[in-house]
Amino acid sequence: LRSLVIVLGDQLDLDASGFDGFDATQDAAWMAEVAEESVHVWSSKPRTALFLAAMRHFAVALEASGRPLHYTRLDAPGNRGSLAAQLSGDIARLKPQRLVMTAPGDWRVLQDVKDVAQANALPLDIREDRHFFCTVREFLAHAKARKSLRMEYFYREQRKRHQILMESAQADEPVGGQWNFDADNREAFDAAGPGDVPPRAAFEPDAITRDVIALVNSRFADHPGLLDGFAWPVTRDQALQSLHAFIEKRLPLFGRYQDAMWPGDPWLYHSHLSAALNLKLLNAREVVAAAQAAYRAGRAPLPSVEGFIRQILGWREYVRGIYWTQMPAYARRNALDAHEDLPPWYWTAGTDMACLRDALTQTLTHGYANHIQRLMVTGLYALMLGVEPRQVHEWYLAVYVDAVEWVELPNTIGMSQYADGGVMGSKPYIATGKYIQRMSPHCKGCRYDPAQRSGDSACPFTTLYWDFLMRHEASLAKNPRMALQVKNVARLSDVQKQEVLERAAAIRQGKVGAASPR
Ligand code: FAD
Ligand code: SF4
Repeated sequence: LRSLVIVLGDQLDLDASGFDGFDATQDAAWMAEVAEESVHVWSSKPRTALFLAAMRHFAVALEASGRPLHYTRLDAPGNRGSLAAQLSGDIARLKPQRLVMTAPGDWRVLQDVKDVAQANALPLDIREDRHFFCTVREFLAHAKARKSLRMEYFYREQRKRHQILMESAQADEPVGGQWNFDADNREAFDAAGPGDVPPRAAFEPDAITRDVIALVNSRFADHPGLLDGFAWPVTRDQALQSLHAFIEKRLPLFGRYQDAMWPGDPWLYHSHLSAALNLKLLNAREVVAAAQAAYRAGRAPLPSVEGFIRQILGWREYVRGIYWTQMPAYARRNALDAHEDLPPWYWTAGTDMACLRDALTQTLTHGYANHIQRLMVTGLYALMLGVEPRQVHEWYLAVYVDAVEWVELPNTIGMSQYADGGVMGSKPYIATGKYIQRMSPHCKGCRYDPAQRSGDSACPFTTLYWDFLMRHEASLAKNPRMALQVKNVARLSDVQKQEVLERAAAIRQGKVGAASPR
């Protein structure tokens, strides 16, 4: 065997760079389902099932393309349980002359594969991942050229470099004369609710997926999450159907309702494409191109299209750059010195806070929550409670179907928990329950009151907001973007401060927030 081409569970693309120059007469692809990937964090059933189902469907596509494949199933006798051990065993058996792969997304996996190659004295050819617009080297050059990193400047550079939503190749002018349409976006739904939202693209599990569901339900029976309604795209064809359904039906209202929440409906006008993108069933370039084409054809307004493209060309590429330029130390960052445990009900949705109960229920049922639920509900609560960032990170990595470390970690450690001290964003995202009240009708059905800071009916978000400001007053006061918020602490009397502290202590002791037993 000349080359063994390693294909990871999030590299499911027949055109990936790892296959460049592939010769079926002397090369073979290698894939393995290993328990380690489901247990190194307590991976939810939907997440594990999606990975395994998509891998098995990709194996079928690979074989149909005539490429020899060595595939180890999770339940195969002799499965060695970890990527490194399985790969080592297969190298001994297959005796390749070299290893080839598309650059992996995870730092941990890269180290493992490098170690295996070295232990077996094999050359390892790691190739650029073409699914991204920006290489890590380009990101590094961008970062070096400025004092501090900000997504907005990175994003503008990307727009110019790739000529996306630009007036013309000559002019540096963005289409519509503006880089950012946030002011047109971010509306909440009115009391009537979201109305007739087009149903999400859902795919009935076929025999392969049903087998995987049965396997996950038995092998990982005690893991969080449910598989009853599993309907994620698991093939390239299904991923393309999801993309087209989004572009045609949801994109026009994506921007306007990007930050809105509605009880019982996590899908709203979002794309639900993150998992397909992260598994590489879709290429970010084709997704961005489809959105841009919809705008040019007059089928979607500019604020929506710009808002959507910003998420992919901007945020998604930016967090990847942060991850690869900050690891491995990034995973251990804890700038706010937070050491609380994650409340156990994050794994069960057993809380009496209506907004959290809804976000957690959807998360466990579908392996999905939209961005604002992740940032301004589950993330916000953990941040203000002071949960140890590593525990928050492990939860996000475990529960979402789109969770892979390169994208999850900077979003959690940086954007949501401010544990990187300001690398990702310039200030912590903190808010009282009134923010959630503005963006959703959750508070109407909740036993707590977002306007109350202390007392029995005080909303825990509101209490913890004031507690957070008081705990970090000295350091936050130095941040010009936080100065106004911090100043308000001085308006509280000593008695009011004491009331906040007492209520916050009760929340931390678990006396508030957990659902009462029925
Ligand atoms: P849409 O709202 O339709 O957005 C379109 C696409 O833009 C997404 O599919 C995604 O590919 C990209 N995108 C949007 N926001 C971001 C972002 N902040 N960073 C990177 N890409 C973005 N996204 C993941 O893909 N995997 C994760 O593990 C993940 N963990 C997160 C953890 C936290 C604490 C937070 C705050 C955000 C996280 N995100 C993660 C980003 C974002 O919440 C999800 O990408 C999004 O909710 C997925 O739903 P969607 O496909 O419907 O996205
Ligand atoms: Fe959430 Fe507070 Fe509103 Fe209840 S009152 S739904 S806990 S924000």
